Amino acid sequence: MHELGLVFQMAKVIEESLAGEEDITAIDTVVMEIGEISSVVPHYFEACFPAAADRCPLFAGAKLVIEKIPAVARCRSCGEEFPVVENKGYCPACGSFDKDLLSGREFNIKEVAVR
Ligand SMILES: [Zn+2]
Repeated sequence: MHELGLVFQMAKVIEESLAGEEDITAIDTVVMEIGEISSVVPHYFEACFPAAADRCPLFAGAKLVIEKIPAVARCRSCGEEFPVVENKGYCPACGSFDKDLLSGREFNIKEVAVR
């Protein structure tokens, strides 16, 4: 489980992005985008999230919102765009496994609301 490390990493990025903004007293909500086939398990990330306050006090009481991004790929043989997980990686139109992933590996800080 590497989600704790990712929580600290997220906290560091947000803390650095807020550096110099002295009016901020607390972080209210963090919105994260997590791809369906990224290596991050949203449930574990959520469980580790409160630990961000250990690293940066601004996170005390902060809420976490996770937006899950579905995995979508484009087939290299026929150009079909399809959801990867429900088709087990195979193009539903032509059966090819050769594809470019369009989304699904995201691990992004989408939004940070502060007080
Ligand atoms: Zn295809």
